[in-house]
Formats: sequence, C-alpha cells, structure tokens
Amino acid sequence: MATQEIAVKIRSQTDEVSIGSVQLEIWDQKERMRRALKLLALLWGIGIFCVILPLVHFFLVPSFLIAGPIAASIVYAKDRMILGGKGLCPHCKQDLPIAKTQDQWPISDLCTVCQSALSIEKV
Ligand SMILES: [Zn+2]
Repeated sequence: MATQEIAVKIRSQTDEVSIGSVQLEIWDQKERMRRALKLLALLWGIGIFCVILPLVHFFLVPSFLIAGPIAASIVYAKDRMILGGKGLCPHCKQDLPIAKTQDQWPISDLCTVCQSALSIEKV
C-alpha cells in the first residue's frame, strides 16, 4: 500500500483557478486480495446470519451468497482510490475539502460554502 500526494488545479465554471492537493492510495495485489476477501467474508457472514430470519431467508441468503463474489471481484479489480484532499475554492477563496472518490480525472466537486461546481485536474 502506497500513498501519494498529488498536486491539483481547481477550476470553477467561470474559469477561476486555485490549487490544492489530494491523497492517492495505490493497493498492491496482496492488499487488493485482502480487501476482497474481507468483503466476501462480511457478505457471506451476513448471508449465514440471515438463515435464522423467518421467510426473508428464502431470498436474503441466496442474494448475499451470490453478491459476495461479485462485490469481491469489483473490489479486487480496483487498485487505487483518492482518499480525499484539500484545496481552496477558486470562487469564494474558502477551504475546500475534497471528498473520497474514484481515480478518474477530472474530478467534479461542489464547494461546500458557495455551492459552485468545480472541476479538479492534475497539475
Ligand atoms: Zn466556494
């Protein structure tokens, strides 16, 4: 597991620009497998617990048993994630917390203070 700090440029719709940074976490194969197995164990555990629930166990148990490997394979395929970051809103100049999100650029975000739509790009 490695965490990188990435400098970003934050652009408002009116083309004002400011800077910030985000934390990118990259998982190696071992870490991805660990995360996938943890999720699989959790979903199958919930599925097994649902056995004791009358009536709903007819669809909850098979649903969780099927959802487990599907969700685990999605988690396994994901090798990086933006943990979040901070910057300055280019419009109102207030602190802008950047939410946890996928590693897909540019990131779209909303300023929590002035609600302006922002586009966050790598520098
Ligand atoms: Zn703002």
